[in-house]
Amino acid sequence: AKRLGRNQACIYAGAPHDDDPERLALETALRHALRDEQLDLHYQPQLDLRHGRIVGVEALLRWQHPKLGRIAPDRFIPIAEETGMIVAIGDWVLCRAIEQAAAWQRAGLPPLRMAVNLSARQLLQPELARRIEGLLDTAGLDPRLFGVEVTESMLIGNFDQAVQHLQALRTLGVEVSLDDFGTGYSSLSYLRRLPVDVVKIDRSLVPDVTALAEDVSITRAIITMAHQLQMKVLAEGVESEGQAVLLAANQCDQMQGYWFSAALPAAAVETMLRDGRQI
Ligand code: C2E
Ligand code: CA
Ligand code: CA
Ligand code: CA
Repeated sequence: AKRLGRNQACIYAGAPHDDDPERLALETALRHALRDEQLDLHYQPQLDLRHGRIVGVEALLRWQHPKLGRIAPDRFIPIAEETGMIVAIGDWVLCRAIEQAAAWQRAGLPPLRMAVNLSARQLLQPELARRIEGLLDTAGLDPRLFGVEVTESMLIGNFDQAVQHLQALRTLGVEVSLDDFGTGYSSLSYLRRLPVDVVKIDRSLVPDVTALAEDVSITRAIITMAHQLQMKVLAEGVESEGQAVLLAANQCDQMQGYWFSAALPAAAVETMLRDGRQI
């Protein structure tokens, strides 16, 4: 507990928000969110660009508060992180997502990988890989149909420990994705040191048909380099057909974004899969 505390203090140094009343109200509300079943998961399809098929989904948290309405993850996840509530919330997300993926498989839907976003605190928990292994086992889900998403910023500070935990997950067969690539400290040589199966190119680096040639060549360089490192590439935030075409032409492997679909409730994803919807 001391270790986590220190790491947390390091990441969020100088950012106590105890004096912000709005934040304090959210923090109090969040303490009840899990217990009162205000949290839910939506799932955003991830598509293979070669065949146009849905190959996975990313689980994304949704919080509907009875009085405050919908609260975006970008607002409440940082609070959950700083207060430590993310450990319980993150564990709930793991259980829920794994159970959902197993239920889809039992229902005879096509194989689909379920990806879950991890938080920094979760990644540093020594028992994370064993916990995930246990949940997969209980649900009867093939570990190859499960993945985790982490960001580079989560690796700073406790690099060796984080890498070790990611290795343990990969040994199980769980896919590791590096989220928001291109927004952080990412250097190409750094990527080589990370136990990662998929590089997710941040939407700010996903060019459109109107993009400058230089922008396209940056995207192309990332794709080429990732492939040389035996990693797959998924482009995030694809909002137009033009972007999808450009990505496919540059050998990008997968994409997700509003152009195909936003994150949807489980029932809507199931309908989409049953209908065999593709690009
Ligand atoms: P992220 O992991 O980078 O997730 C992608 C975000 O982009 C999601 O926002 C998604 O709804 C949004 N998005 C998808 N397609 C498009 C598009 O075409 N255009 C645009 N403009 N946006 C698109 P969301 O659901 O609001 O989540 C925001 C962030 O909150 C996530 O970023 C992730 O960092 C965090 N988050 C969400 N769920 C969880 C969770 O269960 N655990 C943890 N630790 N973090 C989570
Ligand atoms: Ca993500
Ligand atoms: Ca992302
Ligand atoms: Ca993000």
